[in-house]
Amino acid sequence: MKEAIRARCPLCGGEIIVSEYYQTSRDYKVLMNGKLSKRYIVTDAGPINSMTASCGSFCGAYWEHEEFDISEDGMFYDKKYLEEEVST
Ligand SMILES: [Zn+2]
Repeated sequence: MKEAIRARCPLCGGEIIVSEYYQTSRDYKVLMNGKLSKRYIVTDAGPINSMTASCGSFCGAYWEHEEFDISEDGMFYDKKYLEEEVST
């Protein structure tokens, strides 16, 4: 599998922003009178195993979950924009 470590957006050189989606629930208590409380507690239900990445400069660069990898040590591996590679 071809992939390239990215520190910058391959299209415009901007910052890459990785978004990891978490699921939360709002937990409401049913009160003594049988009504739902208006107050709720937000519970973190954990990651929903979904990450996307996009360019912080909004140039249109965008990675779906399967189009990039984050390694154990946190490196960003691009599997999408390999053809656009500009030789430096
Ligand atoms: Zn960009």
